[in-house]
Parts: sequence; C-alpha cells; structure tokens
Amino acid sequence: MSESASGRTSVLLGVPDEEVLDTPTAFDTRIGGQPIWLQGTAADGQLGLCKVCGGAMAMLLQVNAALEDTTYERMIYVFTCRNKKCRRKEGSVRAFRGVLRDLAKEAETTAAAEAEARAAAEAKAQAAAAPKPAVGSMIFGDSSFGSAASPFGAAPFGAGPSPFAKPAAAEPAADLAQSFADKLKVGLAEPAAAAPAQPWQTVADPYSSFYLYVESEVLSNEPDKEVAALAAQAEALAADGAGPSGGDEWSAVPESSGGLAIDHTFQKFADLVNENPDQVVRYERGGAPVLYSKTDALAKKLAAGGGYSAGHLPACPRCRSHRVFELQLMPYLIEYLEDKSGVDILNGMEWGTIMVGTCMRDCVPPLDGHVGYVEEWVGVQWEEIK
Ligand SMILES: [Zn+2]
Ligand SMILES: [Zn+2]
Repeated sequence: MSESASGRTSVLLGVPDEEVLDTPTAFDTRIGGQPIWLQGTAADGQLGLCKVCGGAMAMLLQVNAALEDTTYERMIYVFTCRNKKCRRKEGSVRAFRGVLRDLAKEAETTAAAEAEARAAAEAKAQAAAAPKPAVGSMIFGDSSFGSAASPFGAAPFGAGPSPFAKPAAAEPAADLAQSFADKLKVGLAEPAAAAPAQPWQTVADPYSSFYLYVESEVLSNEPDKEVAALAAQAEALAADGAGPSGGDEWSAVPESSGGLAIDHTFQKFADLVNENPDQVVRYERGGAPVLYSKTDALAKKLAAGGGYSAGHLPACPRCRSHRVFELQLMPYLIEYLEDKSGVDILNGMEWGTIMVGTCMRDCVPPLDGHVGYVEEWVGVQWEEIK
C-alpha cells in the first residue's frame, strides 16, 4: 500500500450499499446471496463444498475483478462453511476465480497486432537504426506488459501463456518465436486434472445480499489523536504488564498465550479499520494484505524473513507461477451479513480476516464454452480467542 500526499492509498475499499432485491448481473460486485454465473455456466460443484465436512458453502463475496487492459471478464467468488464443527479449520473457506474469454477472438486480435508489430519493425529497420519504441506498448498500453512500477517486476501477462505476449519490435524473429514457445510450454506444463464436474449445490439459506460501493481508501494525514492515544496506552500497558482498561472494542488488545502482549500488528489493523469503519473488502491486486495478527501460523508463513512478500504465497498449481495478494475480507462483513440475515452471533463466523491470492499470470482455467473457474489461494486469520 502506497500513500499519496492527499492520504489516498492504492487500496480500493468495498462498502455495503443497497440490498440486492432484484436479480443482479454476473458482473455485479456483491456480498452474500447466491453466485450469479458467467453466461449462466456454473462452476464445478466441488469448488463450492467445504473441504472439512463436504457440505455446501454460503457465498460471502462475488467481486468483479476485471483487469485493466484486458478484453475478458474476470470475477472472484469467496465461500464459507457455516457448520460450527468446521470453524477454524483449513478448507472451510474457499475462493475461486471465474473468467469469460473468447480465445478465438483474442488470438485474432493478437495475430493482427503481431503482424502490425512485425511490419512496423521491418519498416523501422529499413528506415534507421535509431531507438525503437515497442509497438505493443502503443497498441495495448504499457501496463499490460509489466513496468518498472510493478512491485513484482512483471504484470500478469508479462511472462504468461497469454496471447497478449509482448510483440517486441526490435527483437529478432527467431528469439520472438522461441520466447513464444517457451511461454506456451509454461502455460501447458500442467493441464488440469480431468476430474468429472459435479453439479453446483445451492445453499437453501444464503446470507442476505448487498451491492458493494467501491471507493479509494483515504487515510487522514493528521496523526489521529485517538489512535495516538491508543498506541500510547498500549505502550504503557506493555511497560506495566497491566490488563487493557476496556474502552471501545478495538482497544481490547488480544492476549497471546504467554501472558499479556501488545500485538502491534493487530493495533495497526484496528487503526486502518477505524479510519474507514464500513470497509468489508480491501482490494489491491499485487499489494500487501493487512495482517490481523502476527502470531498465528499463517502470519509466520506470510511474513517469514521479516516482512510480507508475495513469494510466500503458494504458487499457482496450474501454471506454477507465483500468486499475488488480491483482496481481503474485513470483520465488519461478519457483523453486517449476520445482523442483516438474522444470524445469532454465537452461531456466527469467527475470522479476523480472509485473504485471497491469485495467479500472477491469471492463467486460463479449462473453459466450458467461453467460461472457466479455477480455485485460488485463501488464507484465514481466525478471530483471537479471548
Ligand atoms: Zn464444513
Ligand atoms: Zn496460474
């Protein structure tokens, strides 16, 4: 997360808006409700089952996550099991990515772009030996191909099997062909197992559904007096070894197993939430998640070696590319969905944050027609047990 002078960060926040009373489109960003499928093509039912109990899960989020400078649609879906026995167990929260692509049309577009790039390269080679701009950049815009600004050195399509691979004007044809072949090889290295698809199981009692309003995160420039006071209080408590003195819910600093320890990670999380308390989703593909705790096993994996790095996420099992952080669900989502859906808090969800990491190359899942769904990485930090 980078912050500009105005306090605006590169994070997009999802905030609950109107209740969904009509039938939403497949491209609407919503919380709760039932999934709406791309072109009416449902995901494999296996993706919607809890890995612990095998039961059908309820949808938490369907988000339109189309990437800039691409010609295809892209959605992310997040589900949770509501079986009490599955709480705090891996596999009881799952996420998958849906894409709607017209590969034939994309190939046509790419072929045309390549032809144009080659023609331009030839023309330029004949004209002069002066530095040549990349034609691909002019056609598609630089951002599709990775730029120095990217924290990972390569944009989703920079090295992938994508038909959008960069046509390099000055590159010799042989190299170009080889790089295409290499890229293709990577893309095809691990075809998905051809497990028979199951019909999707719809939960009978989904959460109430609400559209999300998406806005840029803005943080106050002034040091927040309340936050500063809390931090001071936390420091004092750490020094005294005394218990927290109540106050608002976020100031109840969680204890670790080794007695009272002020969790600065949690404090930072709470401070960010306090700045925009209605946030239920934080979105920043390629950004860094905000950890709810630094003491659990997930935090230790994600922050191994001193800090979060995308390299700590498990790689995409399909194309072996790195995954990048894309979005996280924030705890106000629990309060909002459960309150609006009449769920008793004792029977409610118990997570602090749910993070979703997606394939950096945005590899194409097996398509059924023009639509495909592929499971992505989910990391859950559970609510601290007080
Ligand atoms: Zn379950
Ligand atoms: Zn992949």
